[in-house]
Amino acid sequence: MKTPSQETRTGVNVITTVADLKQWRMAVRNAQASSNSARKGQATVGFVPTMGALHEGHMTLIRKARQECEKVIVSIFVNPIQFAPNEDLSKYPRTFEQDLALCSEAGVDVIYHPSVEEMYPRGQDELTKIIPPESIINRLCGLFRPGHFVGVATVVGKLLNMVEPDISYFGEKDFQQLAVVKRMVQDLDMPVKIVGVPTVRDRDGLALSSRNVYLSKELRELAPILNKILCEILEQSLSGKTRLVDALEKGRRELAALPAVTVQYLEACDADSLEALTEARAPMVVLVAAKFGDVRLIDNVIAWK
Ligand code: AMP
Repeated sequence: MKTPSQETRTGVNVITTVADLKQWRMAVRNAQASSNSARKGQATVGFVPTMGALHEGHMTLIRKARQECEKVIVSIFVNPIQFAPNEDLSKYPRTFEQDLALCSEAGVDVIYHPSVEEMYPRGQDELTKIIPPESIINRLCGLFRPGHFVGVATVVGKLLNMVEPDISYFGEKDFQQLAVVKRMVQDLDMPVKIVGVPTVRDRDGLALSSRNVYLSKELRELAPILNKILCEILEQSLSGKTRLVDALEKGRRELAALPAVTVQYLEACDADSLEALTEARAPMVVLVAAKFGDVRLIDNVIAWK
């Protein structure tokens, strides 16, 4: 995978093995030790884990890392252990050449692009896994995607151990995932700062997602309703116009009435603890998951104060 010509052509070092990754990390550490860069107040290594099929949402995380860190590393790995057997692992979009070009344009130093065998050499059944607390994973997306957050915590834990970044960037778009990762880092004393980045949306309000390409024209036109309903619930309940439980119920009914749409959940939670809320107050996040045809979409809006 890592060929000299690829590196010269794009300026991005494509690394595919743990051994090469560790070597790169050691070289960065050694270079840093012999320079005064740490004293300039910049973090050294910024890391953006992704599953590829990069879009403007991913690129916003990458650009933030580029602004704040000396070295930027992006992982591209479609993680099989976070997909349930009935989910879309085999048809998950894979666009490596395009991702490489985007990373090159954004000044990424390294793409880590391991194979499944490199990540899980003993196979998935022989893998030591990271299990986040039930109180965080046994709700919202976790109820509809059994095993998902164990898969996410395990792969992110492994990647953080391999890359040893100073800062790792995650989108608020996957709000429960961000909560799981923050909690794992706290509970396991992992030496990394986790930074959440606000959701990037299309002009019509639809949160950008690699899965949006699978929406039919009609469902793509309908999908921005998710964000519209979330914003209404946030605004109406925080302003006191409508009780939170009533605003949520109205939103659920509106969504359920749409043809081809199945609501999985629409809930409000404390944005720090993710505890369910019945009364509106900041910090509050309103989250939704719904299937538009076969395509599962998630979104959330947050009032931090
Ligand atoms: P994924 O490739 O879907 O695993 O996403 C990789 C990272 O990009 C995760 O931290 C996501 O939360 C983040 N991300 C995906 N879509 C968006 C978006 N529309 N806005 C902000 N971050 C995003």
